[in-house]
Amino acid sequence: MTAVPAPLPPGSTIGILGGGQLGRMLSQAASRLGFDVVILDPEENSPAGRVSRGQIVAAYDDPTALSVFGRVCDVVTFEFENVPAASVELLAEAGALVAPGPTALAVAQDRIDEKTFLNAVGATTVAFAAVDRADDITANLDQVGLPCLLKTRRDGYDGKGQVWIRDAADVPEAWAAIGGRPAILEARAAFTRELSIIAARGRDGSVAVYPLGENHHAGGVLRTTHAPARVDAKTLKRAKAIATAVLEGLAYVGVVGIELFDLGNGKLLVNEIAPRVHNTGHWTQDGCVCDQFEQHIRAVAGWPLGPTTAHARVEMTNLLGDEIEQWSNLAARPDQRLHLYGKSEARPGRKMAHVNRVTSL
Ligand code: AMP
Repeated sequence: MTAVPAPLPPGSTIGILGGGQLGRMLSQAASRLGFDVVILDPEENSPAGRVSRGQIVAAYDDPTALSVFGRVCDVVTFEFENVPAASVELLAEAGALVAPGPTALAVAQDRIDEKTFLNAVGATTVAFAAVDRADDITANLDQVGLPCLLKTRRDGYDGKGQVWIRDAADVPEAWAAIGGRPAILEARAAFTRELSIIAARGRDGSVAVYPLGENHHAGGVLRTTHAPARVDAKTLKRAKAIATAVLEGLAYVGVVGIELFDLGNGKLLVNEIAPRVHNTGHWTQDGCVCDQFEQHIRAVAGWPLGPTTAHARVEMTNLLGDEIEQWSNLAARPDQRLHLYGKSEARPGRKMAHVNRVTSL
């Protein structure tokens, strides 16, 4: 058995690859625990860089930057999953601990590998087939049924890179719509609602699971999360079992977000896993003693995990694009807590902030 590294003492340096809002909130949590944070992001003055000790402005695959980053940081973590495998190797060579590790990133980057892993650990998914050419779609329509969903294997997010197929005649158009790239064909999940579970695993193998969130999307983008979601005991037990199987199956260290389809009667399918803090976990900032950001920092620093019980009910709403202009009205509401990301340009659809409306349990 490999020895568990000693907990990182306050004053150590944590590196975060990615300088967006998730990196910013991770950095704020780390600084509360006495850590210094360095961000690596190609965009100067990134939201996370502005609240951190420093930022290296470089591409995520810049070997010189990665080697410096790996040397100055005691541990390196991520705010997004599409980190090149070669970059993770360079960081490890420079002497940094990397968490979560390369296996978790590889599994989450490829929808086929992800579903294969999930089914192997008993976390059921929809039926699926790998697609390398248009003929593979036609050949698998019987197996997955109609309608079905064609998604790119890699690089999809917020509903991008996916298209519904309702009829065999749609195949050529659907294949063209995703750019003729390697893909996955997914059966339609007949869900009653979408849930997610945020969970963490520490360096010592301990697991902590938050209450479930119920999520509503618009145009493929998350709008609101209600948490704790009202779920029966069977559903809760199943979600916890899925989270534990995923974390243990990946020997994971850190926080993971797992998106679930609720089929009713305690039956859940896993849609996807995000090997990082997750938008559907933002409610924990105002609903739990130890939020997902602190939890992630605790885990990657080898600290004991914090408590995950909810002390309040929270409705989290994302503010997209020019919705940010409502900030002063929202700030005046005594039941709402605003979390602004410090982004100067409010492009349409861009996540600018979120607001947590807090009520008693
Ligand atoms: P994804 O990019 O995989 O997270 O998918 C974005 C959204 O599309 C999900 O939150 C669901 O609302 C919907 N979706 C994805 N996959 C399926 C599926 N197999 N069946 C039904 N709806 C799906």
